[in-house]
Amino acid sequence: MEEGVGQGIGSVPLARLIPELTDDDVRRIVKAGAAIDAARTDDRAWGWWLGSNTYNFHFCVNERHSGGDEYYLEFEVGRNGADAVLEVEANVNVTCWCAKDHQFDRIVEVGHECQDTAELADVFERTATEAVAWLWDTHDPVRLRTRVGLPSREVS
Ligand SMILES: [Zn+2]
Repeated sequence: MEEGVGQGIGSVPLARLIPELTDDDVRRIVKAGAAIDAARTDDRAWGWWLGSNTYNFHFCVNERHSGGDEYYLEFEVGRNGADAVLEVEANVNVTCWCAKDHQFDRIVEVGHECQDTAELADVFERTATEAVAWLWDTHDPVRLRTRVGLPSREVS
């Protein structure tokens, strides 16, 4: 298995990872990925795997706040499972302040199986737009937690 990590969506060898992608699919994914990168405040690292039976590429943003408050956003794209279905998956997690400690609470989860690469590009664009919104919003994990009705850290 070959793998790599680079800065920005441009470092991901999309056409090698998913050879069925058309030039238009690649163009759309790169454009949507660049919007995500523009919203990030970290090192904009993207990781990829070639010849793996899990996801082809992903990124993860983890931001720590004062007092141990933390959130992370994960975004994974590619084949998954024995049937190698193309998938886009994304989730946002925040530090848990529930009475019972879950460590992290998942507050947003997107998972979509795609029939073909055009649908993959569609779903990537749509999920990237949401990811950009989360990235702006998740600079405040307290607000995110409140929005989904989780206990705020002040209560614990
Ligand atoms: Zn919890």
